[in-house]
Amino acid sequence: AIPLVVAVSAAIGARNGLLIRNRTAFERARNIDAIVFDKTGTLTKGEFGVSDIIPFDKGIKNEDILRYAASIESNSEHPIAKGIIEAAEQTYQVEKFSAIPGKGAQGTVNGKDVKVVSPGYLEEEGISYPKEELKEINGQGKTVVFVLLGGKAVGAIALEDVVRPESKEAVGKLREMGIKCIMLTGDQKQVAERVAEQIGLDEYFAGVLPGEKASRIKEVQDRGSVVAMVGDGINDAPALAQADIGVAIGAGTDVAVETADIVLVKSNPLDVLAILSLSRATYGKMV
Ligand code: ADP
Ligand code: MG
Repeated sequence: AIPLVVAVSAAIGARNGLLIRNRTAFERARNIDAIVFDKTGTLTKGEFGVSDIIPFDKGIKNEDILRYAASIESNSEHPIAKGIIEAAEQTYQVEKFSAIPGKGAQGTVNGKDVKVVSPGYLEEEGISYPKEELKEINGQGKTVVFVLLGGKAVGAIALEDVVRPESKEAVGKLREMGIKCIMLTGDQKQVAERVAEQIGLDEYFAGVLPGEKASRIKEVQDRGSVVAMVGDGINDAPALAQADIGVAIGAGTDVAVETADIVLVKSNPLDVLAILSLSRATYGKMV
């Protein structure tokens, strides 16, 4: 038989937009004192739109930069890829596509090696580009990716995502309850800083590679915190597993949802508050 408290909490959870997959984790949730949120797709909608195209060479047209990029991205599931594909009118045939996890994507177009990559990738590989031309865009907190032809940076594409309106309210209320709110992202520092300011977060980790997300959670746990992680992406699964309570956005990838202890069925960050209040109401707050 299912203990009454469990059946009741599952029913109340369902009424509050929560799918409780792991009861022990739900019980632990009353003691959460730090929450780590993924940025893209969790605190933001994860719907990127192209806002600017910056050519680095007079010999290349904006539409060509976009076309090469969109050709590569047609093979990628990343939210950045979706934004670039939507903006392009045409694409080329791509051979030998591969993802560069947490950094970009690459392939061969018309015999040419084409890459769409993060600023971090260029830094690591020592590939130069006119930094001056990106000053304004970086100041605006936009996400920037670079287009490489034959290993040379020929231009950049700036994209904008939107913060979920509920994120700010959720973080505000959680912080009032004394819970530390932290953001984790593979995106660059300027973007993280802008989002952190908009939402009012305590702290953020930027430029985190997919393989490093779980160790960041461990870092927060090692400070003595009971940590919940809220995420949506494939990359977030190890961090969701590492956290004391793994929470997935319902609209997220299957891997995230299957790894999570609790699912936010309505994909609303405000429902994180319901996890805390229901866990406390069901099990009592431990002191
Ligand atoms: P997040 O943690 O925000 O979900 P990811 O770890 O998926 O970010 O990606 C980190 C960064 O790697 C992105 O901000 C982008 O610069 C780059 N990147 C990853 N995948 C792609 C792609 N398909 N096209 C272009 N850039 C990408
Ligand atoms: Mg994400």
